Amino acid sequence: MSVGFEATSPVTRRGLVLILSSPSGAGKTTLTRALARQPEWKLDLSVSVTTRTRRPSEIDGQHYRFIDRETFESMRERDDMLEWAEVHGNFYGTPRRPVEAALAAGRDMIFDIDYQGTRQVRAKLREDVVTIFILPPSMAELRRRLERRAEDTAETIERRLRNARTEIERWSEYDYVLINDDLDRSFKTLEAILTAERLRRQRQVGLDRFVEGLLAETGG
Ligand code: 5GP
Repeated sequence: MSVGFEATSPVTRRGLVLILSSPSGAGKTTLTRALARQPEWKLDLSVSVTTRTRRPSEIDGQHYRFIDRETFESMRERDDMLEWAEVHGNFYGTPRRPVEAALAAGRDMIFDIDYQGTRQVRAKLREDVVTIFILPPSMAELRRRLERRAEDTAETIERRLRNARTEIERWSEYDYVLINDDLDRSFKTLEAILTAERLRRQRQVGLDRFVEGLLAETGG
């Protein structure tokens, strides 16, 4: 497939930012990471900073950069964050520099952030942003998934379920909405969205020259 725009291609592309949001437990983190792991999609995963406590399965620097409140505040004051928000009582933010570097180089990034952060990124990067909202098939299934993860306390799970409602209510602010009842199918849908978004005319640089060349070949 030629969505990667190889070095020899006469057409290059502006980088885009793919944002996935959902209530906790809808499968967004699994999907984000699965897509970022596939080298052929050439997607850089944005690693957020957070003041939340690390879960046993998480690796510092890979899932998040776990920092204290003071460090978070000094990053915010230095304007080192593209966006930040308080979610479930903890602070989360996207470091600005990796995003700017990726976009300037025409590379794409994938973000797993909430609706508050999505609004801020959209306000800043506008047409370079593609947003996808992931819904659970039912609230009962959302609860089952949170409990199955078994990495959070009962109190944390209850808090996340209470917050799910506020998050779900933002679904209509997103470009695409996906009900995640089957991970494999959702993954394929995400690949289709990415492929289509990469081919948007406005993202392709040099198309006019390419078409001129095509037409010149016909001698017209
Ligand atoms: P969790 O604690 O389950 O990893 O994440 C909780 C929520 O915070 C999720 O909805 C996740 O998308 C969101 N989140 C993670 N990183 C960021 C970030 O950098 N910015 C914002 N705004 N939300 C984030």
